[in-house]
Amino acid sequence: MKVHINTDVCAGFGICVGICPEVFELHDDGYATVLVGEVPPELEDLVRRAESQCPAQAILISGDSSQ
Ligand code: SF4
Repeated sequence: MKVHINTDVCAGFGICVGICPEVFELHDDGYATVLVGEVPPELEDLVRRAESQCPAQAILISGDSSQ
């Protein structure tokens, strides 16, 4: 699984960082960035939760074999 942030719509709420700080980090410019290339399997559920709770729907998941 890979995850990307659409920085055009990310509003920097930081909810993703609160849910999974191992994967998401808040950039100084006010949007989230992704720290990993491939999401470790044990963090996939947290990344899915972050995706579903992001108010801006800025989190894009690709290559998720469970969907
Ligand atoms: S929760 Fe969504 S809007 Fe907020 S920082 Fe993360 S990606 Fe951006």
